[in-house]
Amino acid sequence: MLVHEAFLSIQGEGRTMGLPTAFVRLSGCNLDCRWCDTRQAREGGEEMSVAKVLDLVRSMAVRHVCLTGGEPLCQPDSVHLLSALLEDGRHVTLETNGSLPLDVLPDHPELLISMDYKCPSSGEEGRMLLRNLELLGPKDQLKFVVADMEDLERAEQVLRAHPPRCPVIFTPLGGLSLEPAVSFVLSRKLEVRVLPQLHKLIWGDRQGV
Ligand code: SF4
Repeated sequence: MLVHEAFLSIQGEGRTMGLPTAFVRLSGCNLDCRWCDTRQAREGGEEMSVAKVLDLVRSMAVRHVCLTGGEPLCQPDSVHLLSALLEDGRHVTLETNGSLPLDVLPDHPELLISMDYKCPSSGEEGRMLLRNLELLGPKDQLKFVVADMEDLERAEQVLRAHPPRCPVIFTPLGGLSLEPAVSFVLSRKLEVRVLPQLHKLIWGDRQGV
């Protein structure tokens, strides 16, 4: 598989925020979000076997692993890697953009599917696979990166039309104030966590390594 980078940092997003985590960023993506902050990972990368990536992760000596991209599921071997990491006793977060089928994933208690729903500001909302929402369970998370009021309104529509079984997170696009999203969640009585991107608070746009 093509690996863009592997590094040790803290998880900057979602329910495992703040935990030391081994990140494996696979190359390639099938979307082109307007505000993508990992464009460099959409091309190139180093060819590695599943065994080689597993060794890299073991060398970082932490339990939590985040498989991210790009879009990891663009590479069929990503599912083999997930299984190998889980068999190795790791807790794995798979960050996926919501446009590819999730029924290929193993059913495992230590797998956290972190699915994005791409809001209108991304320009890619039309690519979302709504049937994926039914596959998310209590150990997973559904994340909306929100840039403006239109995104917040759309996120609420999606949640009311497809009540999720997993925790829901609104994350204001990097650098934006949290306050509009917090006011929205409180006024609409939504059971949603508003969370910042912790790595951006710490390191800005620099890589968190
Ligand atoms: S899905 Fe992620 S990596 Fe792909 S274009 Fe959108 S933000 Fe960038």
